[in-house]
Amino acid sequence: MARPRSAVFLDRDGVIVAEVDYLVDAAQLKLIPGSARAIAALRRAGLKTIVVSNQSAVARGMLSLRGLSKITKALKRMLKTKGAELDAVYYCPHHPDFGRSCACRKPGLALLKKATRRFRLDLGSCFFVGDTSTDMLTARRAGMRGLLVRTGYGGKDGKHRARPAKTFHDLAAAARWILRNSKP
Ligand SMILES: [Mg+2]
Ligand SMILES: [Zn+2]
Repeated sequence: MARPRSAVFLDRDGVIVAEVDYLVDAAQLKLIPGSARAIAALRRAGLKTIVVSNQSAVARGMLSLRGLSKITKALKRMLKTKGAELDAVYYCPHHPDFGRSCACRKPGLALLKKATRRFRLDLGSCFFVGDTSTDMLTARRAGMRGLLVRTGYGGKDGKHRARPAKTFHDLAAAARWILRNSKP
């Protein structure tokens, strides 16, 4: 039987790219320094890199699904020029106040479960790097280590009480720690 694989789940805004409070156009994409290199290093170490992002701009009518997929393509292109690749990108386009409640909006776990099945992951050996208390709560509920970065909201969103396992300056620093602390 194949060994279950480990992954680093990544929030997008405030972790990989600058938080701009509703990113609705690819022109707003700005890589946080070191994030592409960090993703490349994680993948070289055999970890899956998987984006899980709430994009309620879609439910709010500020962005179409087509627009969102354009942004994703542009992000992948930007990362690729720096030698980095993502294994998967999952979005929740919903918001309970604009349409419907769902199981995929973080801190819901539906997207994580989808990725777990697809990549045969062992969640206990995975990490979640995020910039909000919602990301940290998602990590805790999924039974993985939540790593907070000071970029983006830096955990100051004030939505939940969930505490991170560790806090880092940015994704680059979090990735260095993950590489020292994940089993090969
Ligand atoms: Mg964020
Ligand atoms: Zn959703």
